[in-house]
Amino acid sequence: MVLACIVQFAQVILRTFYDPECIVIFEALMRHGRKHNEDLANILHLKSQQTKRIITRLTEDHLVNQIMVKNERGAGKKEGIEYFIDFHEFLDVVRQRLNMMYDMAESSQMKKSKEIVYVCPRCGEKYSELEVQFNEIDPQTNLFLCNECHSQLIEDETEQKTPDDKNLETDDKKQSQNTGDQNNIQQKHALTDLEIISDLLEQLDEVDRQIKEQFQLKEEKAQYEIGGVKTQGPDSWKDPFEIEGH
Ligand SMILES: [Zn+2]
Repeated sequence: MVLACIVQFAQVILRTFYDPECIVIFEALMRHGRKHNEDLANILHLKSQQTKRIITRLTEDHLVNQIMVKNERGAGKKEGIEYFIDFHEFLDVVRQRLNMMYDMAESSQMKKSKEIVYVCPRCGEKYSELEVQFNEIDPQTNLFLCNECHSQLIEDETEQKTPDDKNLETDDKKQSQNTGDQNNIQQKHALTDLEIISDLLEQLDEVDRQIKEQFQLKEEKAQYEIGGVKTQGPDSWKDPFEIEGH
């Protein structure tokens, strides 16, 4: 049986990055194991061209694998390509992609931190998010002070912003006023992507930990069996990657 945590993690990944039709196909393969495209189409009451198109996308993304099945001794089994999920490969692919996304989100956050976000209303001196972290803060208002003339800095309104950014900023401002935490205003929305990805990477670490635990159980069981004390061996070993009945 596939470990529950792997199934849950796969569902989270599909829901985060894929549209509903991909989710439907992926979940059908999780439930039913290896299947021909036509069988999948039948199960889901969809046209086979439709399922084929979706499954091609999933195989191109390496989330679903395919295997060529030959008709063995006329056993009534259909020839052709069967599709299945190799959870081992699935986790590897997802890990690689999340790491790549993490790097990208991090560098875009770095870029953002270098943009000009504060300006001095008196002398016109400008500061990026990164620079301003080293400025003095007015202990009464909690606002940054200009290095040149000690005036309170204001946010740079000349910067081009999308309406979305503006909305987020308003929310952030409210929050920061409540907590008195001026430093985080601009960083918050750049962090969103990074936070989502870090959270997924944390979930993946937990999945890895549980898989490791399963393999340790297997080893312990084998050790007990070598010693001839079968009854005391942990009996709960199951291949964490195996779909039941396949
Ligand atoms: Zn100034």
